[in-house]
Amino acid sequence: MTDSPTDLLNSLAPLLDEVSLEAPWALIERFATLKREHPDDVRTAAREIVSRLERLGVPVTVHEPEIYLSLPGAARVEAEGRTIRAKPLAMSRPCPEGLSAPLVFAPTDFDPNTDQVISGPSADDAALDLRGKLVLAHGFGMSSMARHFEERGAAGLIAVHPGKNPHWGICSTVWGTPDLRDLPRKPDFVVVSVNHPDGLALIELAGRGGSATVFAALEEGWYPSPIPVVTIPGTEEPESFVLLHGHYDSWDVGVGDNAVGDACMLEIARVLWKHRALLKRSVRIAWWPGHSTGRYAGSTWFADHYGVELYERCIAQVNCDSPGCRWATEYLDVAWMPEAEGWAKAVIRAVTGKEAKGERPYQAGDYSFNNIGISSYFMLLSTMPPELRAEKGYYTVGGCGGNIAWHTEEDTLEIADRQVLLTDMKIYLAAVAGAANATIAPFDFGRTVEEFSRTLAGYQDAAGPELRFDASRAALAELGAALRAFARHCASLRELRAGDPAARRANAALRRLARLLVPVNYTTGPGFFHDPAETIPPLPDLAPALSLRDAPAARRGFIRTHLIRGENRLVAALRDARRVVEEAMA
Ligand SMILES: [Zn+2]
Repeated sequence: MTDSPTDLLNSLAPLLDEVSLEAPWALIERFATLKREHPDDVRTAAREIVSRLERLGVPVTVHEPEIYLSLPGAARVEAEGRTIRAKPLAMSRPCPEGLSAPLVFAPTDFDPNTDQVISGPSADDAALDLRGKLVLAHGFGMSSMARHFEERGAAGLIAVHPGKNPHWGICSTVWGTPDLRDLPRKPDFVVVSVNHPDGLALIELAGRGGSATVFAALEEGWYPSPIPVVTIPGTEEPESFVLLHGHYDSWDVGVGDNAVGDACMLEIARVLWKHRALLKRSVRIAWWPGHSTGRYAGSTWFADHYGVELYERCIAQVNCDSPGCRWATEYLDVAWMPEAEGWAKAVIRAVTGKEAKGERPYQAGDYSFNNIGISSYFMLLSTMPPELRAEKGYYTVGGCGGNIAWHTEEDTLEIADRQVLLTDMKIYLAAVAGAANATIAPFDFGRTVEEFSRTLAGYQDAAGPELRFDASRAALAELGAALRAFARHCASLRELRAGDPAARRANAALRRLARLLVPVNYTTGPGFFHDPAETIPPLPDLAPALSLRDAPAARRGFIRTHLIRGENRLVAALRDARRVVEEAMA
């Protein structure tokens, strides 16, 4: 519906040809010496980013917020006279003096991507009395999994990780620094991880009625944490901007997660600044602290303190996490919102010749902008071919291109790959600069409407005749028709300059569409607050339809009430969206 992606990408050739490994690789080598979970090394890392930008002649602003973090120290589990290596999860309750309790094994299955309970016969620990016990369970122990056992009254969780090393992580579902809405969900619970063999030994001990003592040291509080931000001004419509961002803190020296992303953004800042005369709208590039130890506290701070500006002017947000890793040559589970799918695929195809596959973005990865309603694409990018992962016996991890060194002390220099990084930097550069330069932003909300329709059809099937989403269906059909007319309108604007008033009007409408349609599909909480770091189903306020038919009679009325409110929210958003589109064409 816009400038053809091919034309756009061809016009970016001078920028793509400029991409080099020199500056980014030097930053990766430096970051490979900094344990960027510790506040001192975090500050050193920020200084490294800033001084390199300055040496390259790129102006940079450094914000100095205080954000709420939890810094894990040492942990261990003692059982039957044996000391077992463990890692405390950030936001776990400290217990340096030791917490002794009987062990119990909960056979619940958790989704390796989300730590969400997988429903099914083996997901049932409901019959077990977990109160006051140290629960052993398979999974990473982050967010939903920890919350599941805290709510069941357990004294603590020993998460049994799948590999030879326990992984670091964070057990809180609270997104960023907690506000008053979030505080009740802040964990008051001990969570540590152990490796697979040690976990199996403890499960065997639990079977014999054994006990264990967990020791975990953590420090929690407000930490000054710099946020470097580069703004490369556009020449035609500088007030509108694309946000490219990623975290520079890490677990240990975190090369694959995420020194490579930091390096990628450094190179993009260099290239875009050098060729800024070619940029029509602005690009902002931000490096976040507090991702690992504060559950995206850096990006959340920025979303809070620049919330209204993002709401009014941000074209899209693009997250840069774990590009350029060893063996990661495929693009198979790339996060994108439906309106950005065509654009994201076109960019990856143009740079690599490969056909990308995508998925709904997880409620993770510095996606701190969903409650503002910003079109988004990319989180992780390249990944290992599935055959190679199978051959190596690797399990699913949330970064490092599929390398299981992710979130361990083994995420060191050999996890980065020059050739993969070079390719991924070009993808990110094209994805960001192309969106900033397109006369009309390359987002097709017709695809969003199609996704909503598919989601709704599934919920309608599940709910049966008891509840009919006819109003939503009608509003979707009307919005779909309006968007088809809008696509023709936008095609007629293609030859205009980016700053032309007609193009500005169409782009403002696209931003409004995102503000209306992203929140109803990715959030349940209010705008400018932050939903928890837990899986959020599509059109979340209608998802309870899935449970309507099998719900006990006493509950059905409450589910119906929720669905009626949820449908009101959706229909109002769809109708507002249709009016936005119609007014943009008037
Ligand atoms: Zn990461």
